[in-house]
Amino acid sequence: PCDLYILFNNQLEISALWKMRNYNGMEVLETHKKTPELPEKARSIIASLSLSTDDYKAIGDLMASSFEAGLKASGGPKPAVKMLCSYVTKLPAGSETGDYLALDLGGTNYRVLLVRLRGSDQEPEILEDVYAVPQELMLGDGAALFTFIAGTLRDFLQANQLSAGPDGERLKLGFTFSFPVEQHGLSSGSLIMWTKGFAAKGVVGHDVCKLLQEAIDKAALPIVCVALVNDTVGTLASCALEDPRCQIAAIVGTGSNAAYVERRSSMERYSDSLAGVSDGGPDGPVVVNTEWGNFGADGCLDRFQTDFDREIDKKSLNPGFQVFEKLISGMYLGEIVRLAIKSLVDDGIIFGGRMPESLVQPMTFLTKYLSEIERDPPKHYYSTDQLLTVDLGLKLVHPIEAVIVRSICEAVSTRSAFLVATGIASLLKRIKPSGHVTVGIDGSLFKFHPHFPERMTRKVQELCPDYEFTLKLSEDGSGKGAAAIAALV
Ligand code: ADP
Ligand code: MG
Repeated sequence: PCDLYILFNNQLEISALWKMRNYNGMEVLETHKKTPELPEKARSIIASLSLSTDDYKAIGDLMASSFEAGLKASGGPKPAVKMLCSYVTKLPAGSETGDYLALDLGGTNYRVLLVRLRGSDQEPEILEDVYAVPQELMLGDGAALFTFIAGTLRDFLQANQLSAGPDGERLKLGFTFSFPVEQHGLSSGSLIMWTKGFAAKGVVGHDVCKLLQEAIDKAALPIVCVALVNDTVGTLASCALEDPRCQIAAIVGTGSNAAYVERRSSMERYSDSLAGVSDGGPDGPVVVNTEWGNFGADGCLDRFQTDFDREIDKKSLNPGFQVFEKLISGMYLGEIVRLAIKSLVDDGIIFGGRMPESLVQPMTFLTKYLSEIERDPPKHYYSTDQLLTVDLGLKLVHPIEAVIVRSICEAVSTRSAFLVATGIASLLKRIKPSGHVTVGIDGSLFKFHPHFPERMTRKVQELCPDYEFTLKLSEDGSGKGAAAIAALV
C-alpha cells in the first residue's frame, strides 16, 4: 500500500490509497480515510506511554496504601506521600464578608491580592497585582525572596490606599505557599522541600510564615499573616464557597497535588496539636494536603516510567522526588513530548534526522502545544502542521510526522489525565461518601486542554463506579480560597 495525502477543507487529511487485488489479479484502487501505519519505533514509544486499565488499577491500589502510610506515619522514615495537616477544620460557607489580603507563591506567577468577600449573594471582588518571579529569586537567597515579597505588599498597599483599621488593627493575610510544608498550626509551618523549579537557600526547615512576617514587620507594614494555605487547600475552600458538597480538590498546573476532607481521628500524628479543636465534634473534619506529587518517590512507580520520564527526573532540580507530578504536570509534559520526538529524530525516523533548531534546548516544546495540537478533531492535523511549521519553523512537515507528533501528545496528555483521575478515585474510595461529591479542580491543563476534563471523568467513573461525583473547574483557590480561610480565623 502507498499513502496519499489530500488537502480537504483546509484540513490536512490523511488517506491511505490501498492497492487491492481482485480475483483476476488486476489491481483496483480504493481510498480510505485511515491513519497510515506508524513506524515501529514510534509505535513502541507510544505504547510505553500508554498504561493499561490494570496498570491504573494497580497504581490506584499503591496510592491508597501510600495515603494510609502517610496518615499513619509517626517519626521514623518519612513516607513518600506526606498527608499533611492543614489545620483547616471547617470550610467556608460562602456567607463570609470583609477585606482580606492574599499572597500566591508557588506557581508560574506570583500574585498579591485584595479579596473583598461579600457574602452568599455576591461574588467576591478581587484586586490583584501579578509578577513573574525572577529566576534569581527562585534560586537565590531566601531572605531576598521574602524582602521582595514585602516590597510588593508595600507597593500594593500604597497603590490601593490600604491601611490599618481605625483601631490600628492590622490587615489579615492568607499566604498561599504551594510547596510541601509541615504545619504546626494554621499560621505556622516549615518548608519540607522546594519543588517546581524553586530552590532558594535558607528556607527549607524554616517557618515560612515567620520569615514572611519578619519581612513584613521590617518593612513596617500593617499586615498580619493569619493563615498559611496550600493552593490545593485554597481550591477546596474556593470550591466550597459555591458548593457545600465539595470534599476534594486537585491541581494540574505547573505541579500536581490534591487536598481532601479527612476525619480528624485518622490523623494520629497530629492528635496532640488538633486536640483543642472542637469544630464538628471529636471526629470532625480536617483538610489534608496530600502532597501526592511525591507519590512514587519510594520507587513504587518505577515500572510505569518510560526512558523519557527517567531522563526528566535525572535532569530535574529534585531527582528522585515528585515522581507522580513529573508524569502529570504542566512543567513536564511538553518536555516528555520533546524527548520522545528527539529519540525519533536521533534514529533518523522523522524530520530528516535533524532536530528542529527551535526544539534543541530543553523545555522548548511547551505544554500548551499539546492543547493546541489536540484541539483538532481526531485524525486531523491542521493545528499540528501549523504549530510545527509556523511556530517551530520547520520548512516541511511530512504528514506521517504530524501523525506521529499528535499521537505522542495524545499519549502523554491521556496518561496525565488518567493518573490524576486515578488519584481522585483513590481519594473517593478513602472518603466513602454517602452522597454526591464535588471535586474542585484548578490548573491550566484542566482548564485549557480540550480533552482533559472528559478523559478524567471517564477514568474516575471506570475506577470508581459506585460513587457519584462531578469535576468542577474551581479557580483562584490561592486568592479567593486563601482569603476565605483567613476569614474563618
Ligand atoms: P500554576 O503555576 O499556578 O500551577 P497554571 O495552572 O496556569 O499555573 O499552570 C501552569 C502550567 O500550565 C505551565 O506548566 C504551562 O506549561 C501549562 N499551560 C499553560 N497554558 C496551557 C494550555 N493552554 N494547555 C496546557 N497547559 C498549559
Ligand atoms: Mg496556581
